[in-house]
Amino acid sequence: MNRNVLPAVICFLLAASTAFSQSYPKNFFGNPIDTPFILAGTFGEIRPDHFHTGIDFSTVNEQGKPVYAAADGYVSRIKISAVGFGKAMYLTHPNGFVTVYAHLKNFTEPVEKYIRKIQNKNESFEVDESLDAGKIKVKKGSVIAWSGNSGTSSGPHLHFEIRDERTEEPINPLLFGYQITDHLKPEIKSVRFYPVPGQGVVVDSDRPRSYDVVAAPEGLIIPVSDYIQVFGKIGFEFSLVDHQENNPSPLGIYSMQLTVDTQQVFSMKYDRLNFSDGRYVNAHIDYEAKYDGEGIYERCFRLTGDKLKFYQDTTGYGYFEFNEDGVHDVSFTVTDFSGNSSVLNFQLLSYSSLSNSTYQSQPEDYFAMIPDKGLAIHKSDVEIVIPANSIYEVLLFTNKQSMRQNGYYASTFEIGDPHVPLHLPVTISLKPQHLPDDLKPKAVVVSFDKKNKPVYEGNDWGPEFLSAKTKHFGTFSIAVDTIPPTVSILSLPGDDNPEGRALRIKMKDDFSGINLPGNTGREMVVDGI
Ligand SMILES: [Zn+2]
Repeated sequence: MNRNVLPAVICFLLAASTAFSQSYPKNFFGNPIDTPFILAGTFGEIRPDHFHTGIDFSTVNEQGKPVYAAADGYVSRIKISAVGFGKAMYLTHPNGFVTVYAHLKNFTEPVEKYIRKIQNKNESFEVDESLDAGKIKVKKGSVIAWSGNSGTSSGPHLHFEIRDERTEEPINPLLFGYQITDHLKPEIKSVRFYPVPGQGVVVDSDRPRSYDVVAAPEGLIIPVSDYIQVFGKIGFEFSLVDHQENNPSPLGIYSMQLTVDTQQVFSMKYDRLNFSDGRYVNAHIDYEAKYDGEGIYERCFRLTGDKLKFYQDTTGYGYFEFNEDGVHDVSFTVTDFSGNSSVLNFQLLSYSSLSNSTYQSQPEDYFAMIPDKGLAIHKSDVEIVIPANSIYEVLLFTNKQSMRQNGYYASTFEIGDPHVPLHLPVTISLKPQHLPDDLKPKAVVVSFDKKNKPVYEGNDWGPEFLSAKTKHFGTFSIAVDTIPPTVSILSLPGDDNPEGRALRIKMKDDFSGINLPGNTGREMVVDGI
């Protein structure tokens, strides 16, 4: 062989292997906080309407811990907000990654000074400032800030992210070689069988059915005295939680794998996410089970409208078709990032007589919707516009109109089923009834929560209809907001509040969900003085 060819071949092989394993530099990033690492949140953990995009380091109920630059680089962005990340700093590093540090208490004095100037100039507490490469350089291990509890944070911790600079996609920081002490296995709490509506049966119906999982001497089992019988197209869902020693926080898992009769039907890993895909979490989990308070079940199958990219092979979407009589072996493995895993093995009896079971009765009056097509309905009293890609699986959409209730100014409309998640906002326009002209400016579209309390949805007037954009199905009407909101001061500037210098106030109105910046509920922070 020509002497010069060999290095070229090796280079090619090396490049090919990195491309396949998508490796990340292991020793480039240092610790953003002093060890020991106690995790308060893991990458990919299920949160309301999104996945957690970083890892949370516990600061053991204390604020003011030094936060260190994970590597050499420069401050590329500073964001201060009353909600979300609170006080956050972004560092850009020369190797194409960005690290993010959030819920901070303060930055170092030069940065605080720089920020105060911007706040004064803009007369605003909120800051979102991008900085050029030369402006504020940092060295690996230097203190860049102190940890806190600012923004939407339920206790002091450091939220830490590593992002791909080019795509801005957050990557699991643990892929970069951080050492976490964890010898505890993830827990499989229960399993839920999901028959595809109209195409599968579990025991006696095409409704999902959950079973507890318990530890027995021979391993994890589903404690049932006889085979669980199934037929047709079935998906598998699991309620899971991970634990770390000396750590009370429940944590998310890293990967799942499902095989039926030694054939792998599903596998996924929380390696990388995309911010625009966050809301697909409602397709990844069993949203109906969550809505009914039955817990969070992660799915080992993919709904047709679920565009998440962390599924490894979804050619069969992860469902299994039980079409012939006989016993099948199912094996589910869940693993945490440290490689601790739990396995649940069980058997299901595929039984063709179940195909005679009665499927759920279809509603009398419905529109059949598929995920990539929208729907617009116009009636004399109501207009509903559902954009394409709003739903994740075939839906028999229903809507019903009933009598106007006392104190409301439109009929009561049941629009869709609140157990069905929506990916995009749906526009609901209602025609008011008996609404006096002087109350027109105070009229709002409301929905009703589980306790039947009205919740503000929107108040856009058209020529005849009052409209709102909403991200959930449910029951809607028109109400009038005549009681002025009350405002109370929670803390004054200078108090030891997470935002430092800001004035915190609480607003109360006769509807929940009052429309405030950031749509976070009823607390807001006014510019510090
Ligand atoms: Zn976090």
